[in-house]
Amino acid sequence: MSSHKVIVIGSGPGGSAFAALMSHAGHHVTLLEKNAFVGGKCSSLSRDGYIVDTGVHMFGRGPLGPFGEISRIVGMGPSWSAATPAFTLSLSGAGKHTAGQKRPHGHKLEMASSITHPVSLLNFLRGHVRGWQKMGWASTAVKASRELGLGGFISLARRFGDHRYPLYCELQDICVREFFAKLSDADDFLRTFHAQAMLTMVLPWHRASMGEFAYILASTMQASLLCYPRGGSGAIPASFLRALEKSGGSVRAACEVAGIEVDRGRVCGVTTREGEFIPGDMVVSSAGLRRTVELAGRDAFPVDYLAWADGLSDSEAFIAVKFFLDRKISSMRTPCLLHMPGLSPHTMFDYLQDGSIPEELFLFATAPGNWDPSLVPPGGDCLIVGVPAPSSLDRAPQAECLLDLAEEMSYDIFPELAGATVAVERVLTGDVSRLSGRAAGDCIGIAQEVGQSGSRRPQSHTPIRGLFLVGADAGGRGIGTEMAADSALRLYHQLKDGQP
Ligand SMILES: Cc1cc2nc3c(=O)[nH]c(=O)nc-3n(C[C@H](O)[C@H](O)[C@H](O)COP(=O)(O)OP(=O)(O)OC[C@H]3O[C@@H](n4cnc5c(N)ncnc54)[C@H](O)[C@@H]3O)c2cc1C
Repeated sequence: MSSHKVIVIGSGPGGSAFAALMSHAGHHVTLLEKNAFVGGKCSSLSRDGYIVDTGVHMFGRGPLGPFGEISRIVGMGPSWSAATPAFTLSLSGAGKHTAGQKRPHGHKLEMASSITHPVSLLNFLRGHVRGWQKMGWASTAVKASRELGLGGFISLARRFGDHRYPLYCELQDICVREFFAKLSDADDFLRTFHAQAMLTMVLPWHRASMGEFAYILASTMQASLLCYPRGGSGAIPASFLRALEKSGGSVRAACEVAGIEVDRGRVCGVTTREGEFIPGDMVVSSAGLRRTVELAGRDAFPVDYLAWADGLSDSEAFIAVKFFLDRKISSMRTPCLLHMPGLSPHTMFDYLQDGSIPEELFLFATAPGNWDPSLVPPGGDCLIVGVPAPSSLDRAPQAECLLDLAEEMSYDIFPELAGATVAVERVLTGDVSRLSGRAAGDCIGIAQEVGQSGSRRPQSHTPIRGLFLVGADAGGRGIGTEMAADSALRLYHQLKDGQP
């Protein structure tokens, strides 16, 4: 690569990683961020002695995934914390809850990052024996063998984690529901995988691509390292930006790009909200595909590219309620918890489409102080409870009601909250949209759904010479932040190898 003057838009995991990589490779890099702080949807802010993530985060591979690879290239990166057991599985006591009657607390099982770890195996067995969770392994094996033939079943299992035969390409046009419903009739089995697809891609299973899900399952199971960066999620982009500055690049926060300048089909720089023109021969945007098109002007793009971009859909949202406590959480020993509602796996996320409020919700809760005690004041704690919600801002009233229910359920799952909560803070879809600069409050970016994933996923290259996309919208695969970092890594390697 000859030396370029590179302008990177956005400081989330995608933009910060790409800026660090390009600066390390000797290019002149300037990163512009519209917010007064860096990190995008993966930032952490200080508040009365707590360091709190803007969202609710957990990382599937940490140093063993793209973050680790980038850190090794640029010589700097976050340090990671993991715990065993890694998470608590909270299983609904009944799923039914009538007005005035307190919902049962349900049952809790602790799990390790690896499903084959003795802690996980023992607790799976405990849940089965006590009747809390019937995964139906035997009936599933019988149904799967009948469906695929014994040879097909064994071959599927063997190829699952084998990178030489990427199953995920073969499965990119099948949705998660179609794949799993063919293999099993067991509600707990199906609910587990539907919830996993929601947790990792923030999509209901009839939209989520099985190819992408197979990749996520195989790569996270191979790493078996649920973890979290010391210093909070914001430590990831912050460490990449330190690497950027160390190698001579610069970061300008509170500097919004209002236009990408294009001259005869080639970028020549950007103009900021204040009207400053910053020249550059390469502009790499993590503002999202559609926002990037707006910034460059629709006239600059071929009509078929615009039609395709306009038709892409985004992931759903994760909204959150944060509890600030004056004592330690006592009903969970692990850093995070997944609550499985006692609802049918076929309807548990219907509310995302039909606007209803279900009886119970799937919840993802983290207590970051259990990964890194320095994030909370001595003797205090913080619990962040996330719930899937529709990403459209038009559905904000429904999202408010979902968060009310999530808050109510949190007091049942963590009874100690009642006496220990000193403040509560909410993150709704409007907050996420303001954070990322996107039109909706989507959690991830462009949805990893059938028709938009694998070989059909938007690529980093655009029809405008010198204009590229990085981040969760284009070019990568995996879970949220790791997909954004993977996108940066792939574009960096493509440019380095001289691919057009
Ligand atoms: C509540 C919540 C929970 C989540 N949980 C997880 C999780 O557990 N694990 C996980 O891996 N992922 C999780 N994610 C998803 C993850 O945070 C995103 O997928 C990831 O941050 C996307 O990275 P990005 O770099 O593509 O974009 P972003 O992080 O959105 O960064 C884009 C940046 O571009 C800036 N920008 C936009 N327009 C302009 C402009 N015109 N000028 C200058 N700057 C601009 C924005 O201000 C922003 O800082 C979660 C997200 C949310 C909201």
